[in-house]
Amino acid sequence: MNAYVERVIEYVKKKHGDEPEFVQTVEEVFSSISPVIDAHPEYEKADLLTRMVEPERMFTFRVVWRDDEGQWHTNIGYRCQFNGALGPYKGGLRFQPNVYPGIIKFLGFEQTFKNSLTGLPIGGGKGGSDFDPAGKSDAEIMRFCQSFMTALYRYIGPDVDVPAGDIGVGGREIGYLFGQYRRLKGAWENGVLTGKGATYGGSLIRPEATGYGAVYYLCEVLNHEKDTIEGKTIACAGFGNVTWGICKKATELGAKVVTLSGPDGYIYDPDGVATKEKIDYLVEMRASGRNKVKDYADKFGVQFFPGEKPWGVKVDVVMPSAMQNDVHLEHAKQIAANGIKYYIEVANMPTTNDALAFLLEQKGMIVAPSKAVNAGGVGVSALEMSQNSERLVWTAEEVDAQLHKMMKTIHEMSVEAAEEYGLGYNLVAGANIAGFKKVATAMMEQGCF
Ligand code: GLU
Repeated sequence: MNAYVERVIEYVKKKHGDEPEFVQTVEEVFSSISPVIDAHPEYEKADLLTRMVEPERMFTFRVVWRDDEGQWHTNIGYRCQFNGALGPYKGGLRFQPNVYPGIIKFLGFEQTFKNSLTGLPIGGGKGGSDFDPAGKSDAEIMRFCQSFMTALYRYIGPDVDVPAGDIGVGGREIGYLFGQYRRLKGAWENGVLTGKGATYGGSLIRPEATGYGAVYYLCEVLNHEKDTIEGKTIACAGFGNVTWGICKKATELGAKVVTLSGPDGYIYDPDGVATKEKIDYLVEMRASGRNKVKDYADKFGVQFFPGEKPWGVKVDVVMPSAMQNDVHLEHAKQIAANGIKYYIEVANMPTTNDALAFLLEQKGMIVAPSKAVNAGGVGVSALEMSQNSERLVWTAEEVDAQLHKMMKTIHEMSVEAAEEYGLGYNLVAGANIAGFKKVATAMMEQGCF
């Protein structure tokens, strides 16, 4: 590995040992871009990599809210404006009890390169709170969102920073956040959040975009292998918005999602999460706030495996679509032992670095990285920003066609970037290199700061 890259990784390990997810993502991205640093000595001269691992701005804020019994609660809110070289900071808000600076920073760092891959003018950011939405009433969620936005509104804006959803933040939360922003500003700045409802500036297809984009990307991979999606079985994780989108598109294209997971275990449905009733039920499960996948097994009479992950199931395609570090080395070994050819990451950093290294060594296995595969979500968010600034609403067909094109281009760009450095069909390195190059060029051209 390039000596400068090694030094920066060591520096990050030393400085951020208490933020393991952040160290993990820096190591993953920077080890891929080593050949680019070899070819561009000016990056070391400008100490570009040390600048890249330091967020431009990151802050916390107090979020106080009242529950239905009249009890007061205090949570921590975060926003990390990681890199604005390519455009306004853009990235979701995550509401989950395990949120702390290391999670927000890893997500903001990933987001910077992912957003670059979309080809659209958006910088990288991320935010959220350690608030736990599970079991909260609608009124509690609304009060929390209003308090969160009251603290955040003066630091965001359509040309400054445009938050969206992530785990625990969907259309309902974005609605409450947007309502509060509008109330505080006394202005309809409709490009300030994305993932809005269709009646007030939201883009059609945005709710589906991450899942649809992931399936479009999978189709590009299959196409490259002269294979087809028809008849394929897919193991997914989670039962949130992303998995829902995958189920819809996979079903439409003749494939079957056979597993879902939750904090309580996983379900196996050999017929596939494939009917409208089943797919709609995912939305119901999520809205219930129970956060249990067992509900699906009870309702549709399929097998439930308590406390287990779905990575031992024999399928054609594995798509970890729930959260970070969901696939560990022992799972990776199971996946390889099952002879699975397609490992398509969907959630942000779902694979531990040792598991990823192991999978990349497997002959005949194709590994696709989440920052490319899930980029359609934020890509359609950028299309929502365009529609908002034009004061237009595009049809679902127009947005879907653009999303499809975007995913094709991301795959193509990754293939070309890896080939340029003699790495063959390496989608992980290719995505890191392609995403990095644009951010690096923009930072260099904008001078040192
Ligand atoms: N949270 C999503 C992501 O990880 C979406 C971000 C957005 O739409 O701004 O990319």
